[in-house]
Amino acid sequence: MKKKTLEDLNVAGKKVLVRVDFNVPIIDGVISDDNRIVQALATINYLTDEKAKVILLSHLGRIKKEEDIAKNSLEVVAKRLEELLEKKVNFIPYTRGPELEKAINEMKESEIVMLQNTRYEDLDGKKESKNNPELGAYWASLGDMFVNDAFGTAHRSHASNVGIASCLESAAGYLMEKELKYFGDTVDNPQKPFVAILGGAKVSDKIGVIENLLKKADKILIGGGMAYTFMKALGHNIGTSICEDDKLDLATSILENANDKIILPVDVVVTKEFREDAPFRVTNYKGMKDNEMGLDIGPKTIKLFKKELKGAKTVVWNGPMGVFEFENFATGTKNICETLANLKDARTIIGGGDSAAAAIQMGYREKFTHISTGGGASLEFLEGKELPGVVSLDDLEDGACGAGCDCGH
Ligand code: AMP
Repeated sequence: MKKKTLEDLNVAGKKVLVRVDFNVPIIDGVISDDNRIVQALATINYLTDEKAKVILLSHLGRIKKEEDIAKNSLEVVAKRLEELLEKKVNFIPYTRGPELEKAINEMKESEIVMLQNTRYEDLDGKKESKNNPELGAYWASLGDMFVNDAFGTAHRSHASNVGIASCLESAAGYLMEKELKYFGDTVDNPQKPFVAILGGAKVSDKIGVIENLLKKADKILIGGGMAYTFMKALGHNIGTSICEDDKLDLATSILENANDKIILPVDVVVTKEFREDAPFRVTNYKGMKDNEMGLDIGPKTIKLFKKELKGAKTVVWNGPMGVFEFENFATGTKNICETLANLKDARTIIGGGDSAAAAIQMGYREKFTHISTGGGASLEFLEGKELPGVVSLDDLEDGACGAGCDCGH
């Protein structure tokens, strides 16, 4: 079902609540990757240009105990947003109450107010994360309409997305629209050949993705830690490599049903210790010793994966090929990243999380068709699941008052 988007709303002079995903990494008070803020600028700029009063809501980190409060304040994010927008952002350090309400009531057209971290409400009974209806209705009462631009949290049903959307006319922001377009259209109707590359630590996180993509992709290249469960399922010695023994039967049955679509590493980079500067060697996948673990794909595998990627018209990548945080074991991930960045005439889509971070770190931000801002959300989308944050938005044919409205607007 097509969802309403920004242009379907009549925003001039209206108080527009916007759920953004400003859950950015912060180290010692400094934002180390502002991609999510940058990606939200289009929506915010559109709304201020159209004379809306823009009220921003986001979560940051997890709030389980009192100590989490100070380190997860959104104040530093508001400052960065101000720099990027070159506009004043009125940060209110509360999630509710008279000061916030006063600031919103005094807003003029094109002004921006930002609330404190929505998850501060989790300290008292997980109100945000459990989609407490009173909280969703309260936030909805602060505005006239709702825009959800937070793809990164769209797989969750929280008060600040689903809760607000159920009370107000609502639409997808530009970033949300872009994410849905690339993950939805591209993956559902891919230009062929369609190659998926999956890596990362665990098979269990990506079983649903593999099963869904087997129906759509021509090939699935598997690297990273998850490859070892498949190798063990095939009867190979994987030494002390990461492995999920309770998933061996599942791995066997996936391989049996894969019609040779799954390509596993043919060689690996092994070491005896899990540390940055541990001595390492390359061996073919049959040559691993009992005391060795595989931490990267080897050169023959890189060559093989490159061959499979040649001529691909659609590529989706999720998960690093090895422990890319350690320089000695980052070669596989770097090579895949570089190969994708240089593919001609292909749609290249990177799921969020580590692969997105790796691509950006390596300076390829502009070289991909799309780098997702959502790790978990992009995985659930690739599994073919519906995302509650999206489902809760108004369908295009809904009236001005939102889903279920029969007032005749
Ligand atoms: P994920 O969040 O599932 O995409 O996993 C990313 C993590 O997988 C990264 O922190 C990598 O260091 C880790 N990883 C990738 N390959 C391996 C491997 N061969 N052994 C252990 N961890 C790995």
